[in-house]
Amino acid sequence: MVEMLKGIAASDGVAVAKAYLLVQPDLSFSKVSVEDTAAEEARLDDALAKSTAELQQIRDKAAQTLGEAEAQVFDAHLMVLSDPEMIGQIKQNVTDNKVNAEAALKEVTDMYIGMFEAMDDNAYMQERAADIKDVAKRILAHLLNVTLPNPSMINEEVVVVAHDLTPSDTAQLDRNFVKAFVTDIGGRTSHSAIMARSLEIPAIVGTMEITAKVKAGDILAVNGIIGDVIVNPTDDQAAEFVEAGKAYAEQKAEWEKLKDAETVTADGKHFELAANIGTPKDLEGVHNNGAEAVGLYRTEFLYMDSPDFPTEEDQYKAYKAVLEGMAGKPVVVRTMDIGGDKELPYLKLPHEMNPFLGYRALRISLSELGDDMFRTQLRALLRASAHGNLRIMFPMVATLKEFRTAKKMYEEERQKLIDEGVEISNEIQVGIMIEIPAAAVLADKFAKEVDFFSIGTNDLIQYTMAADRMNERVSYLYQPYNPSILRLIKNVIDSAHAEGKWAGMCGEMAGDQTAVPLLVGMGLDEFSMSATSVLKTRSLMKRLSTTDMQELAKRALEDCDTMEEVVELIEQYVN
Ligand code: PEP
Ligand code: MG
Repeated sequence: MVEMLKGIAASDGVAVAKAYLLVQPDLSFSKVSVEDTAAEEARLDDALAKSTAELQQIRDKAAQTLGEAEAQVFDAHLMVLSDPEMIGQIKQNVTDNKVNAEAALKEVTDMYIGMFEAMDDNAYMQERAADIKDVAKRILAHLLNVTLPNPSMINEEVVVVAHDLTPSDTAQLDRNFVKAFVTDIGGRTSHSAIMARSLEIPAIVGTMEITAKVKAGDILAVNGIIGDVIVNPTDDQAAEFVEAGKAYAEQKAEWEKLKDAETVTADGKHFELAANIGTPKDLEGVHNNGAEAVGLYRTEFLYMDSPDFPTEEDQYKAYKAVLEGMAGKPVVVRTMDIGGDKELPYLKLPHEMNPFLGYRALRISLSELGDDMFRTQLRALLRASAHGNLRIMFPMVATLKEFRTAKKMYEEERQKLIDEGVEISNEIQVGIMIEIPAAAVLADKFAKEVDFFSIGTNDLIQYTMAADRMNERVSYLYQPYNPSILRLIKNVIDSAHAEGKWAGMCGEMAGDQTAVPLLVGMGLDEFSMSATSVLKTRSLMKRLSTTDMQELAKRALEDCDTMEEVVELIEQYVN
């Protein structure tokens, strides 16, 4: 049956392909008594053999596509599977208690998991607990004859359908096969949406009901530019989507002509167009899209992609690679922003009711738990500074005291390295993200002490409007053009300029084609966005006159009461 759904357009592009359901299957079972315990043991052996073969395959694929280090987590799983003591206890449980293999497996693995989890100040033991959970689930699935989804093993063209995708699920998607993804929940600035843009995978989030409407094997037509999905489209509908895909490819080819062009407005004013990255690998996209700088390097992915804390040396190598890759152009590296939707299993953060308002980012760095981690990162950054044009940025700053404490730690590590004779650049700028309204309001005070601001609208909007950036039900309140947001942004830019500092923006609003004219008019100095938005923004800026945009910004700030009025005014000025 043909079904049409609408969601939030999260990453440009169009695709028509078979659906791949990335949803957890039902693994419920009942405990039953069995007479033939030998048969139960044979079922268990069969499930163990299948699990081993499957894990071996996943491990090999991970080693090929992600590297040996990432593949090692599967070695740990394979070790659990071949642990004679645990397997022996499961079989013993079957024979002694005459119960089915599912129940015996659960009892024994739960006992081990509980034991490891109880050693709660030991990260290694926590990981063992997580490994056993994972393996137990795989064996159980084989006992129940259900298939666990496995995004890393996709080997044909598909559209991935999921309730939600975490940033680490998204990182595993192979863009050669995954032509698009569609989720029930999420917003345009969820990290999975941001990653989809950097991977250039068309995506639609927040459809609310895609997993309920789609069965494995259904055909999906996806238009990530406007947020439309059709389940089992007619031939005509599919052809329409294919046409839209072609038109988008032509448009992209036009933008690509601007790759080496300067970013100047129609009246000749230059703006810096930068790109956001998550790993050194993303530099390819930065260069392909002609970005002039890296305006945000989200270093937390370095931590998330590693089974344990990355060492100072590992970090130094990553930062150096990015600085050298940018050959003297500015690189803004943000210190780790763990928390919110970016989890780090080995850090064992407590479960929180409101993770976006909780213990995250600089709050962790400045606490006892994060002290070592933060200093290690600062040292790695300072050492890497000799290889390029480094700017360091602290995330989630709410108070001046936080900035001063972080800056002091930075100065301490800097002095230690100088005493050790390490070469460090003299020109490192140290700035902050403005993503908490308190800092935006107090920008005049901050501006006296920082070297720069970068406005993180992804969070600034959610905190100002009290509307979760990942919640599709309140996405109507997530309003970048609301006059309240515009006032905050204007205050930040003016405060920076009053102290001779620069103000950039690294939230998704910087690449939002409706917002760009306003931001040009407000005098934002640097625009940092998903690399794939750089060329269309350069193309738009070429058509704008700064004097007209200044008038637009002034009128938007003075005359408009609502977001709708602002959008209408922008349309008048730009078209
Ligand atoms: C922001 O909040 O705007 C930002 C750029 O940071 P992140 O999206 O990583 O929270
Ligand atoms: Mg943020």
